[in-house]
Amino acid sequence: MTDTAADAPAALHFGFFALDVLRTRRLGRSFLRVTFGGESLADFRSGGFDQSLSLFLPPPGQEHTVLPSTDEDDWFAAWRGMPDGERPVMRSYTVREQRRTAEGVDELDIDFVLHGDSGPASRWAGRAVTGRRIMAIGPVVAQNKSVRFQPPAGSDAVWMYADETALPAAAAILERLPAGTRVRAWFEVPHQDDRLALSTPADAEITWMVREGDGRDRTEQVLNALRAAGPLAGQAPYVWLAGEAGTVRAARRHFVQERSVDRRSVRFTGYWRLGASEEQLLAEAYAGQAPSEDPASEL
Ligand SMILES: Cc1cc2nc3c(=O)[nH]c(=O)nc-3n(C[C@H](O)[C@H](O)[C@H](O)COP(=O)(O)OP(=O)(O)OC[C@H]3O[C@@H](n4cnc5c(N)ncnc54)[C@H](O)[C@@H]3O)c2cc1C
Repeated sequence: MTDTAADAPAALHFGFFALDVLRTRRLGRSFLRVTFGGESLADFRSGGFDQSLSLFLPPPGQEHTVLPSTDEDDWFAAWRGMPDGERPVMRSYTVREQRRTAEGVDELDIDFVLHGDSGPASRWAGRAVTGRRIMAIGPVVAQNKSVRFQPPAGSDAVWMYADETALPAAAAILERLPAGTRVRAWFEVPHQDDRLALSTPADAEITWMVREGDGRDRTEQVLNALRAAGPLAGQAPYVWLAGEAGTVRAARRHFVQERSVDRRSVRFTGYWRLGASEEQLLAEAYAGQAPSEDPASEL
């Protein structure tokens, strides 16, 4: 589903990293921050904003991720060829922050949404303890194609929608925007205490939408909130949308059809899809059946 996942075999901008869990911290009812360390992080080059990476998580019963090969030419075939039940699962996540501490230790934060044990990544995160090792494919150059947030020159406002899975990316984007950038944002989270503190030098107006339910009417709620906002400041907005795929598509239609935004200025990404695991989404991508993220694609 992600560029890193689907195109990784050919990607020169990415490399393998061994990530060791240093600590975990609960940020809200749905969010767990896992801070990773590891010597290989010295070569990790996050481009910031919504930089994503692919994690390989160990199958149940194994403490650490072991890949048969990390060679750029044959890792993919070797990984795919592993027997079911032994193959680490690959999942897309966001680099919430990369830093080097005052003591010179390289650290990486990833904020996991805990959505229960039905997903291997959520299950793994909920049980993560210090010392566990996973593997990742991440950037070795800061300018890489897994940074999707790329406002065109001349944009005069940023309009954003994110659900909880994209809130880490939205938070990182907000931190990086130039001072005074006009931002209008809608963030959808499951619970009140998932409204994480955000900091930004931008001139941002944020609307929080709290579901507090099973989320069946999530798309309708989001569209209602977008429509209720009335006219938005900005003649040449850049629109960034990420979250559940169906809701993201509906939000894109809203901005293109109801607010007449040039579709080339809308970056939209389905971070997950209700009822489908990432394997299923990847299988669709390999079969060429995945809904397009191309800004020019039909609605
Ligand atoms: C570029 C990119 C960046 C991402 N960044 C983050 C991030 O920083 N933090 C983060 O938490 N997620 C992030 N995601 C989303 C994450 O990859 C998916 O939620 C993924 O499906 C989780 O894997 P899993 O193994 O837990 O569930 P899967 O095995 O993939 O899915 C199992 C079931 O759970 C459902 N499901 C998946 N995710 C959720 C959810 N959040 N809530 C409710 N049901 C769900 C699926 O529909 C499916 O029915 C990102 C995705 C992309 C493409």
